[in-house]
Amino acid sequence: MSVLLSRMPIVAIVGRPNVGKSALFNRIVGGRPALVEDLPGTTRDRIYGAAEWGGREFRVVDTGGLEPSVPGTYTPLVRSQVEEALREADVILFVVDAKDGMTAADRDVADLLRPSTKPVLLLANKADNEERQEAAVAFYELGLGEPIPVSAQHGLGVADVLDMVVGILPPGEAPPSVEGLRIAIVGRPNVGKSSLLNAILGEERVIVSEVPGTTRDVIDTPFQFEGHDLVLVDTAGLRRRGSIEAGVEKHSAMRARRALERAQIALCLFDLSEGLTAQDTHVIGFALEAFRGLVVVGNKWDLVAEGERTAEEWERRIRWKLKFAPWAPVRFVTAKEGTGVRELLEEAVRIGEQRLRRVETGPLNQAIRRAVLDRPPTSPSKGKRLKLLYVTQPEVDPPTFVFFVNDAALVHFSYRRYMENVIRRNFGFEGTAIHLVFRGRGDEREERPRGGS
Ligand code: GDP
Repeated sequence: MSVLLSRMPIVAIVGRPNVGKSALFNRIVGGRPALVEDLPGTTRDRIYGAAEWGGREFRVVDTGGLEPSVPGTYTPLVRSQVEEALREADVILFVVDAKDGMTAADRDVADLLRPSTKPVLLLANKADNEERQEAAVAFYELGLGEPIPVSAQHGLGVADVLDMVVGILPPGEAPPSVEGLRIAIVGRPNVGKSSLLNAILGEERVIVSEVPGTTRDVIDTPFQFEGHDLVLVDTAGLRRRGSIEAGVEKHSAMRARRALERAQIALCLFDLSEGLTAQDTHVIGFALEAFRGLVVVGNKWDLVAEGERTAEEWERRIRWKLKFAPWAPVRFVTAKEGTGVRELLEEAVRIGEQRLRRVETGPLNQAIRRAVLDRPPTSPSKGKRLKLLYVTQPEVDPPTFVFFVNDAALVHFSYRRYMENVIRRNFGFEGTAIHLVFRGRGDEREERPRGGS
């Protein structure tokens, strides 16, 4: 294809003839002029059109008829059409016909698509009425996930499909360059935040890039650690110790929130000699609500080191109160002496890397589909069953997963937790909160998980 077309993401429409591929194509391009490409050596053609949805531009290609000459056998042409779509497309829309039901040709196409890791949306077209929408369920058997009922002719469900497509498309622009991994030290007063700040800046392997000016408050402190650029955010307050008086508790909560807003990783500090208090879990809750990376740091280890409990017993005790964030690492330090500080920074760097990970849509959907089979959503008494249509990870830092479902209101808290565990078990993301968004068909509402204690 021409250079002009090569840069844009491509959405390919495949399926046997007469299922409504061109009607869908026309719906999506909305009357924009289409470009016809003759396929060498055949009488078939492929039609390209420009489309735009939700601010994203992409090309749609109608692959033409995939008609096996003998029903139940796919011709080389069918194969090459699908293979071409698999090669060039970022998203494949596989169209079947809810009116006619399943045919052998549908199965042939499904057989070609199933092994691919490219995202495939299975569209049951001509689902103009409720009866046919129900009939669409039968295509689940093709093993390509939940069939999505649409009517290209009447425009039903097409907007939802385009929402999904735009969610799946690879990101358009490169992420903004970050000058360093931003870390916040948070915790209630006297847990040792400024001591930890000083310990970090005094750590042997830390190179502080800039000496903070004395005339002006320097809000953040950039530094280097083992070749990584890091930034401690909102350090001005911690340097200005002693000026804090009445209303300290309130002030510290505000400071924590402000620092967390600008950070990627939260070091949530608490005082081991006092244990993990309700206020400490409160601060941890802030970090979760902001979907930050998190290390729970028990400070003043020197005060308890002589005691009865081993580090393992301490960790067990702490974890028992951290059931809402089982993925968060727990570390012990003696800020006053700088012990454990290097390990803490290494942990922060590791978590920073986890936050930038992106899971491909193919493996992601395979894992989720498997998990749904293992433990299907339970039907509420009213009988409407939750269906997970498609999952994508459109964002990193925080890693954000969008679940397209039939009705977001049907997502029970325990099922959300299950989905989070499935993602973690399959793909990692150790040490960082991940953001799960459930989007119902035709609804813009986002459901946010409740972090916190
Ligand atoms: P902040 O209010 O959270 O910034 O706490 P500070 O850093 O000012 O520390 C509060 C008090 O705890 C100070 O008296 C510190 O000397 C003390 N402290 C800080 N870290 C440690 C530690 O690791 N061990 C012990 N024993 N005391 C510590």
